[in-house]
Amino acid sequence: MIKRVLFCSPEVTPYAKTGGLADVSGALPAALRDLGVACDVVMPLYGPVKASKLPLERFGDIFFPLGAGIAQASIMRHGHVYFIDNDEHFGRGGLYTYASRDYPDNLERFAFFARACVELAGLLGADIVHCNDWQTALVPAYLRALDMHHIVTLFTIHNLAYQGLFDASLWPQLFLPQEFFAPWCLEYYGGINVMKAGIVLSDHVNTVSAAYAREIQRPEFGVGLDGLLRSVAHKLSGIINGIDVAVWDPANDPLIAAPFSARDMSGKQACKSWLQQRMGLETDPCAPLFGVISRLVDQKGIDLILPVLPELAAAGAQAAILGNGEPWYEDRLRELSRAFPGRVSVLIGFDDALAHAIEAGCDFFIMPSRFEPCGLNQMISMRYGTIPIVTPVGGLADTVTALGEGNRPVGLRVKAIDSYALSQTLRESIRIFREDRGLFQTLRKNGMEQDVSWSIPARRYLEMYSIQKDFKESDRI
Ligand code: ADP
Repeated sequence: MIKRVLFCSPEVTPYAKTGGLADVSGALPAALRDLGVACDVVMPLYGPVKASKLPLERFGDIFFPLGAGIAQASIMRHGHVYFIDNDEHFGRGGLYTYASRDYPDNLERFAFFARACVELAGLLGADIVHCNDWQTALVPAYLRALDMHHIVTLFTIHNLAYQGLFDASLWPQLFLPQEFFAPWCLEYYGGINVMKAGIVLSDHVNTVSAAYAREIQRPEFGVGLDGLLRSVAHKLSGIINGIDVAVWDPANDPLIAAPFSARDMSGKQACKSWLQQRMGLETDPCAPLFGVISRLVDQKGIDLILPVLPELAAAGAQAAILGNGEPWYEDRLRELSRAFPGRVSVLIGFDDALAHAIEAGCDFFIMPSRFEPCGLNQMISMRYGTIPIVTPVGGLADTVTALGEGNRPVGLRVKAIDSYALSQTLRESIRIFREDRGLFQTLRKNGMEQDVSWSIPARRYLEMYSIQKDFKESDRI
C-alpha cells in the first residue's frame, strides 16, 4: 500500500513555469489524487510567487546540517503544494537564468532544494519520492547518504539535454560522501553531472515517452549518457505525458474568443479572426494559418522553420509565432515578420493567454523538433482542432498518428529533419486545407477525439509506484 507520494519539481503550473515540466507537475499529482493517492508537491518559493498575493500558509521551519553549519528554510503551503522558502537561494526573479545566462550558484541552489525535499519527505512520512529532472536529481543522493533506504525513489527525465553539469571545484558545496564523486555516481569526465545521481541511485527511471526512452540509449540522442542509460535499461521505461484537459478545453476556455467542440466547430472561426486581428495578420478566413509556440532553441527545429516562412507567405498562408529563447532566433524571426507584414507575425515573449489564442485560432501547428522527450503542444493542438505537423521523434512519434500511418490519422509527418522535408509537408497541408476539405475536417475531428488526458498515464505512474514499493518491501523481508 502506498502511503504518501512527494512529487519534487523545480517548476509547477500555475506558480512558476518555463516549459512542459511545469504543466506535468501541476497536472499529474492532481490526476494521482483523483485515483486516491495522497500526493503532495514541493517546489522552491521563487521571488515572484512570494511577492504575489497567493495566500500561503506557514507549515513550519526545517533545519538540517550542511557541512559544519546548520541550514534553515521555512516551508510554506498552498493546498497540496509545499514551497521551500529561502531568500538567499530562491528570492530572485528567474528560475534558473538571468538575461539568458545560468545563475552561477545553480548547483548550490538546487542541492539546497534537494536536501530540503528530503527533510520534507521525512516530515510528511512519504514512502515514495518522485523526482523530476536534474534540479531534483540529488534527492536520491541525500536519501542514500542519510540511510533513508525505506523510501522508494523514482526519477523522471523530462529532457536529457539539461543534465546539470558543473565544475569539480564546486563538489564541497554538496556535502555528500566523497565516494559519490566517482564515475559510478556523480563524476562525469572530471566534472559533476547531477542528473547521473538521479539515474544511478533511483529505484526506477522513466522518460516521458516510450520512443524517447529507446532513443536516449543511442549515441545520437543520448547526450553523452547513452552508455549509462543502456546499463540501467532494466529499470528504465517510458510513460507518455497527458495534458490538463480542464485548463486546455476549447469548450470552456476563458482565454479564447469563442467556445467550440468537435460537435460544434462554429466558434473556431471566431477564434481565427480574433487571432489574426490580435497579431496583425490579414483577417482572411481562407488563408491557412500555421501556429508555433516554442522555446526558441535548437531542440525545437527553429532553424528549419526560418527558411520556410517566406514560402508560406508567398503561398498566401500565414504564420503566428510565439516564443522566446536564443537571441539569434529571436532576431531572425523579428526580421521575417517585418519582411512579410500581414503574413508572418511574431511575438517574442512568454504569454500564456496568447498561447491559448494561437492553439484555438490556427489551422495547423508546426513542431519540427530535432528531439522531443514528449511535447505537449502537439496534444494541446489536437484538442483545439489544430492539426499538428511533426517530425518522427520521441513523443511526437508516439502521440501523433500521421496521414498514411494508421486508421485514425490526426496530423502530418515531416519525413526527415530538414527544411526541405518541412517545406514539402507544409505544401501538402496547404493543399489539403484548400482542396481536400473532407480530409481536413477528418484530421481535425480525429485529433479532437483522441484521449490526451492524464487518466491513462496517471494509472501507469501508480502502477510503477506500486511495483517499486512491492520490490522494496520484498527486499526488506
Ligand atoms: P518544452 O517543455 O520542451 O518547452 P512542451 O511542448 O513539452 O515543450 O511544453 C511547452 C509548454 O510551454 C506548453 O504548455 C506551451 O504552450 C508552453 N510555452 C512554450 N513557450 C511559450 C511561450 N513563449 N509563451 C507561452 N507558453 C509557452
